[in-house]
Amino acid sequence: MVELYILGKIRESDVEGDRLEQFFVVLDGNRQVCLPDPKFDEVYLPVVCSNCGTLNLLIGQDIECVSSHEREMGPERIHSDTLYGKCVNCGAEMEAKVDIYEYPLNTFQHFEIDEEQNCKAVKIGNFREFIQALMSMKPEILIV
Ligand SMILES: [Zn+2]
Repeated sequence: MVELYILGKIRESDVEGDRLEQFFVVLDGNRQVCLPDPKFDEVYLPVVCSNCGTLNLLIGQDIECVSSHEREMGPERIHSDTLYGKCVNCGAEMEAKVDIYEYPLNTFQHFEIDEEQNCKAVKIGNFREFIQALMSMKPEILIV
């Protein structure tokens, strides 16, 4: 299963009041993740260029809640964005649409990818471990 890498902020409340905390999360379609009232800043998707076969990361920076409808356990929200990139090897434009489902409230697991232009989503083995090792150098970021 393809993985999505997401950076954003969630609201944390404690005795000192409300504050925004940065988070990093990997969605793999299997693991359920709890993110209270998240604001997504960036989402990254590894893809292979259909033109030359080079591995690239597509980046989306405008993830928004595009729809919400009621189900048994409350609203199901869909957060959506189109990710873009230019192949680092051949220069071809690539584009993929990502829909991230939130259901029940604050719970994330399922997502869908529509490879709209010149790319195929792929999984990078051990990439999550690499990012987590990197981010452990910045302890103020919450790794979910
Ligand atoms: Zn290419």
